[in-house]
Amino acid sequence: MRALVTGAAGFIGFHTARRLLEEGNDVIGVDGMTSYYDPELKRRRQEILRSYDRYQAFEFMLEEGSRYADLHSDLQPEIVVHLAAQAGVRYSLENPRAYVDANLIGTFNVLEACRKKPVRHLLLASTSSAYGGNTRVPFRETDPAVLPLTLYAASKLATEHMAHSYSHLFGVPTTAFRFFTVYGPWGRPDMALFLFVWHILRNEPIEVFNDGASQRDFTFIDDLVEAISRLIGCIPIRDPTSAENSVPGDTLSPVAPFRLVNIGGGHPVSLLEFIAEIERATGRNAEKLFKPLPPGDIARTEASADLLLALTGYRPDTPISTGVPAFVSWYRQFYDC
Ligand code: NAD
Repeated sequence: MRALVTGAAGFIGFHTARRLLEEGNDVIGVDGMTSYYDPELKRRRQEILRSYDRYQAFEFMLEEGSRYADLHSDLQPEIVVHLAAQAGVRYSLENPRAYVDANLIGTFNVLEACRKKPVRHLLLASTSSAYGGNTRVPFRETDPAVLPLTLYAASKLATEHMAHSYSHLFGVPTTAFRFFTVYGPWGRPDMALFLFVWHILRNEPIEVFNDGASQRDFTFIDDLVEAISRLIGCIPIRDPTSAENSVPGDTLSPVAPFRLVNIGGGHPVSLLEFIAEIERATGRNAEKLFKPLPPGDIARTEASADLLLALTGYRPDTPISTGVPAFVSWYRQFYDC
């Protein structure tokens, strides 16, 4: 199989591309190497991917529509895993335009390329933030998601809708994932785990929002990649003879080969429990500066994993007592500390 992964130098893109390569596939990686966080980390991830013969790397922004279209039509991937985006909830209050450019224009260019040269399966990343102001937990894919709290969430909801319309009009089989707080080795420096470990190992205080009461359904990166790998083979085609159509809670659209799937285990953990796990893994006590919930943040996320389980026979289950030490040990090795 030939797969194109956008955002291949990013945290999730790197792990996804590496998994696809390990499975013996050809992988085309596209990444604009944005400066949202240390590009050196992205370069180091790319170096690892480049060590595989079956990997081809391209460095440009998805907003360059004709460049992306040419690449797609020249190399004709069968699968596209679209992970490149301006990520981060809080940064969308600082620099909203980056979300419009990368998430809306970038995704539009990916969709256009798939229209002109159809693929077997397009998979794209959305987020648990799409549930926004919903308070009913667990978050189910069948719940209405019409209360985005930030432009990040709004841009991701928009990409789900844009992809649904292309799927309807042009028949592109599409799966949109809603990821729940992903963490693990090679993780993102703007996210809580990375920031906490960074400060704790330097004996600096950490900022703990919502007095530590917020809960997150943390998903370990290996579990996420396992789910993505299984969903790649789960092509959303409406077939009246297929048992897949009778999956309870399925989000397969009645008017398009399009499906929405949560990727999260459904085991929310409070921020204070998470920090306690980091303290155990680092052998240090954190000095905590308690702060209110920032605007746009969700106090609790919890995935319903029922649909993922029904489709793939799998749900994320790595506990933070395994995942956090795995991150800390990668971090210590990477930063030699
Ligand atoms: P990341 O920032 O590490 O990776 C994104 C990559 O895309 C980066 O390497 C960046 O250089 C690249 N990129 C950004 N804008 C681009 C553009 N316009 N053109 C080309 N390349 C561009 O983030 P991640 O955590 O790996 O996230 C991957 C996807 O998953 C994103 O779509 C994100 O919104 C989504 N997501 C992530 C999480 C999480 O917890 N990490 C949760 C929910 C959703």
